[in-house]
Amino acid sequence: MNKKRYTVTSALLYANGPLHIGHISGAYLPADIYVRYLKGKGHDVAFICGSDEHGAAITLQAKKDGVTPKQIVDKYHKINEKAFEDFGINFSIYHRTSDELHHETAQDFFKTLEDKNVFTKKTAEQFYDEENNQFLADRYISGECPRCNAGGAYGDQCEKCGSALSPEELINPKSTLSGNTPIKKETTHWYLPMQNHENWLKPWIEEGVLGGGQHHNPKEWRSQVLGQCKSWIDGGLKARAMTRDLDWGVKVPVKDANGKVLYVWLDAPIGYISATKQWAADNGKNWEDYWKNENTELIHFIGKDNIVFHCIMFPIILKEHGEYILPSNVPANAFLNLEGEKLSTSRNWAIWLHEYLEDFKGQEDALRYALCATAPESKDTDFTWKDFQARNNNELVAIFGNFINRVVVLTNKYWRGVVPACNTLEDYDKGVLEKLKSFPEKIGASIEKYRFREALGELMNLARLGNKYLADTEPWKLKKTDEARTETIMNISMQIAASLAVLSEPFMPFSSDKLKGILALNNVSWNDAGGIIISDNHKINSATHLFNKIEDDKIEEQLEKLKQ
Ligand SMILES: [Zn+2]
Repeated sequence: MNKKRYTVTSALLYANGPLHIGHISGAYLPADIYVRYLKGKGHDVAFICGSDEHGAAITLQAKKDGVTPKQIVDKYHKINEKAFEDFGINFSIYHRTSDELHHETAQDFFKTLEDKNVFTKKTAEQFYDEENNQFLADRYISGECPRCNAGGAYGDQCEKCGSALSPEELINPKSTLSGNTPIKKETTHWYLPMQNHENWLKPWIEEGVLGGGQHHNPKEWRSQVLGQCKSWIDGGLKARAMTRDLDWGVKVPVKDANGKVLYVWLDAPIGYISATKQWAADNGKNWEDYWKNENTELIHFIGKDNIVFHCIMFPIILKEHGEYILPSNVPANAFLNLEGEKLSTSRNWAIWLHEYLEDFKGQEDALRYALCATAPESKDTDFTWKDFQARNNNELVAIFGNFINRVVVLTNKYWRGVVPACNTLEDYDKGVLEKLKSFPEKIGASIEKYRFREALGELMNLARLGNKYLADTEPWKLKKTDEARTETIMNISMQIAASLAVLSEPFMPFSSDKLKGILALNNVSWNDAGGIIISDNHKINSATHLFNKIEDDKIEEQLEKLKQ
């Protein structure tokens, strides 16, 4: 097999609040499925994530809560790291941007770019809060949106209509620190003139061409990603300030930059690199293999609100720095809604992962399954508790769990758990074995195209194949009259069950482990699936339920909780 190296990143999570299902379905679960699959195939993968601990949203929240920014990020870094782990999101490392190694790495990047004259220095007037003696960047300023006239729009964005804004555009701007009307004062910042890079960005994004060669196949990129990039480029890229007047963040490492830190969107993506450095140091690897080797595939999993940063800004920075590889795909997801409404942290309209894990102990995979099945891969989708319940009860329990249960119970009942031999094959059996063989490639092909819903659908089709085979052949009726035939049917059913155990691992790792335990399967990998995995006379264990039914009252409780 052709082994390859991959660097897979999931958007750094802002460490100013807990993790909810919208985050999970956007950037973390699909990446985890992808990475588990790649590892199952034997590829070398660094799966990188961590907390994004800088930026004005965190300093503002700290002020509001009367604590230091460090107290906020320490708290949420820990909570989120644990929630990811408990949910089976299997990062190689969950790093943090407040780490010293990250500060060094980000400063080094800035210095290199500054030495190469990638930035332009510009002095301009900016809003300033006289009471707090502070420049007001981004979220420190709010006012009326010039597009939709909603109040409470921020200096960088109106959350009501989604428009990207600059502070000067706000109508009747106020400082969010003091509530006062700010004055204008001169300050100097380092800008990245993104328009200077259009000449290579355009062919790279539209045709996948870089430096005269084919870098990637643009047809494999999602249309929403290409569409957003195209509209940014066609609309004319602009210079964007890469520094901020703030006291929390990575200090700008050049002269005359007192009181300035790196723009959070310059510092955060570099966090992928510093995290890789830490992981490599901890595991005896060379981090440069994962960022500077052109045979390595770099894939960024993000939500659609981060497309411009990962497809335009970060690639410019990587290319201008030199030596670094560029992403071969950025499979951004759209947004997940909840019960027909936008998820909202401030309105507490969300399902918090750490709360789900408390309320549904041992049912991590039910949520993984439902979130994958409704993933917003091409457009916004909706999560409802009723749909979650139906998917668990009617699909996981009734199809997947039911098939496994029948195979395991019958094998234990008829042969004390010893798998019977496969005797003469009838045409129908041959057809079923032929179909079984095709599943690993079908599921894998969908995963490689970032079509996780489709892949999960195929996995369930394999469970359906097993159920249909049992229903059509009725081994429980044959047992009394045709022992040899019954043995063959159960041997084949056992092979389907074993493949399900392997192929379900990327999607439902907890149930996959449980099923491997029931079937006493050791050392099987993706490449074994689809074939004869279990030999005659192999001894399995007794049946336990893979999935448990979720009753109405449990769902009612959750719906009530949302209304609070
Ligand atoms: Zn607006």
